[in-house]
Amino acid sequence: MRADLHVHSSASDGTDPPAEVMRRAAQAGLDVVALTDHDTVAGHAEARAAAGRLSLLPGMELSCKAGGPRGGQRSLHLLAYLFDADQPELAAELARIRDDRVIRARAMVDRLAGLGVAVTWEQVAEIAGTAVVGRPHIARAMAASGAIASPREAFTRDWIADGGRAYVGRYALDPVRAIGLVRAARGVAVLAHPRAGRDTYVPDEQIAGLAAVGLAGVEVHHPDQSDNERGRLLALVHDLDLVATGGSDDHGSLTGHRLGAETTSADAYEALVSQARPGAP
Ligand SMILES: [Zn+2]
Ligand SMILES: [Zn+2]
Repeated sequence: MRADLHVHSSASDGTDPPAEVMRRAAQAGLDVVALTDHDTVAGHAEARAAAGRLSLLPGMELSCKAGGPRGGQRSLHLLAYLFDADQPELAAELARIRDDRVIRARAMVDRLAGLGVAVTWEQVAEIAGTAVVGRPHIARAMAASGAIASPREAFTRDWIADGGRAYVGRYALDPVRAIGLVRAARGVAVLAHPRAGRDTYVPDEQIAGLAAVGLAGVEVHHPDQSDNERGRLLALVHDLDLVATGGSDDHGSLTGHRLGAETTSADAYEALVSQARPGAP
């Protein structure tokens, strides 16, 4: 069984519509795909309708923020699966996160204008369409304006990478609260790519703390995590009795098409799904 549990579509910042994602997943020989768009479940209906023989695991990647070194804050992503998206408290938080994403994207466009980049909010909004707006949409507008050669170049300190000249932070959930919300909505939560980069490094103690409040798993197999880090995470996951998952974090052409490049084992998948409580959709 091949399961890719971390995939984005154009419902957030991926470049392919959900139906196209499912078509590509089938082509990649996957059996299970989790659609995990940022802070939204808007792509699920289209993905489900296009699933065919594929199994769709409904999911989402939740934006969180936790205390970091020297009193700072670092962003942290939680993958949530099999939760009830209509659970009122969770739905309200998701709406708040999405609203703030718009305010923040506008602020970044203003900063870019101040740096001489000829990008307008209207252009970014047109690229995002009905999707949850994110930095990749701004990056695409920047590339279209000629300020940079390709969208990937926007993700440096010169532009809109974390801490960059035009970067603006935004509202995100405390991860302990986020895990509580997902569990209250009868779902399971997995810590996404905790060792994918310096800006998003989650130390062992913090992972242990999240495990103590109901975290179900850790994404060990992710394209941006080295073999060395994967080895350390596997040992930690074993010690904490968590599930080790894997996913490609495919964003379509933005990341290079890589569906199925990382997968979750059948045992891990079963263990994860069994932790979603009965009655979960
Ligand atoms: Zn992420
Ligand atoms: Zn992701």
